[in-house]
Amino acid sequence: MIIDLRSDTVTQPTPSMRVAMANAPVGDDVYGDDPTVNQLEKLAAELLGKEAALFVPSGTFGNQLAIMTHTQRGNEVLVGDACHILMHEVGAAAVLSGVQIRTFPVLDDGIDVEKLGLMLRGDDIHFPDTGLICMENAKSSGKTVPLANMEAVYALAQSQNIPIHIDGARIFNAALALGVEAKEIAAQGDSVNVCLSKGLCAPVGSLLLGTKKFIKKARKNRKLMGGGLRQAGILAAAGIIGLTEMVSRLEEDHQNARYLANRLEEIDSCSVLRNRLDINMVFFTLPESVITESTLVAGLLEKNVKISGQEDGEYRFVTNHGVSSDDIDWVIESMKTLVSRYS
Ligand SMILES: *Cc1c(COP(=O)(O)O)cnc(C)c1O
Repeated sequence: MIIDLRSDTVTQPTPSMRVAMANAPVGDDVYGDDPTVNQLEKLAAELLGKEAALFVPSGTFGNQLAIMTHTQRGNEVLVGDACHILMHEVGAAAVLSGVQIRTFPVLDDGIDVEKLGLMLRGDDIHFPDTGLICMENAKSSGKTVPLANMEAVYALAQSQNIPIHIDGARIFNAALALGVEAKEIAAQGDSVNVCLSKGLCAPVGSLLLGTKKFIKKARKNRKLMGGGLRQAGILAAAGIIGLTEMVSRLEEDHQNARYLANRLEEIDSCSVLRNRLDINMVFFTLPESVITESTLVAGLLEKNVKISGQEDGEYRFVTNHGVSSDDIDWVIESMKTLVSRYS
């Protein structure tokens, strides 16, 4: 058995998901005929307090579809520095929607609303129009954004008639960490994107949610982007189980992340970034003088543990459904052995 700490996207569909997938009633979803997709979209809209939802192939697809649907070519889209839309979506906003991305700083305690306000474009012949503001919660850095901060950003955007899109790929992790309902986070924007294939263990898919009018327009843009799927109920069936049975289990991932953080600190020179330990992601540094990145990655792989290399000098371990506390003990013992062998 492999212990995979690279991401929570590595999760496998559960046995009950596979049964539901095999038995799902399906139809052609481009005609709106797939009862299982329709059921998933209705369930998600209720759960997240939005009028309508749309099943999409991936989180990147959902975010880019939101950008395309909210904006016009040449608009400026404001996003947080280091967010997924900026860092991990291959520059798609420029290619697919012809928009210009500009970043605002996101500090440890949230978005600097005053600074963001100064970035909204006024009426000047030289300026692009500010077409959209994107927030992310939970953030790719492992931190959550406080609800009050999101509220302040949404109030600012509404006062200027600028829509807000929320990248809520890990919205249920954020809600758990903040002690709020996911729909309270979703309420801080006009649209929200939610991932089914991370901690919730569905094999494929995300949901984009918003008003009926917005989702109607997004449905057409989804077709334009090649994301009009046919008998997608096979996939949606797993998503339904993700939303109904798997949300409550995220707590286990969060507890395991804390346990992993504590145990990593037993290793000399291993420094856990404690201030970013909000969800199921543990960030830490381990100097190259103690063990090099390639030695650690290859050494752990020999012990059946998959990890990613560093990004910006940091390692990221992600707990997920396939990682137990016993697995974490194995990882720590393996790391201790490697560090003592090479240092
Ligand atoms: C994972 C993730 C996405 C979507 O990723 P896909 O791999 O395209 O499903 C979007 N935003 C954030 C913050 C994510 O973590």
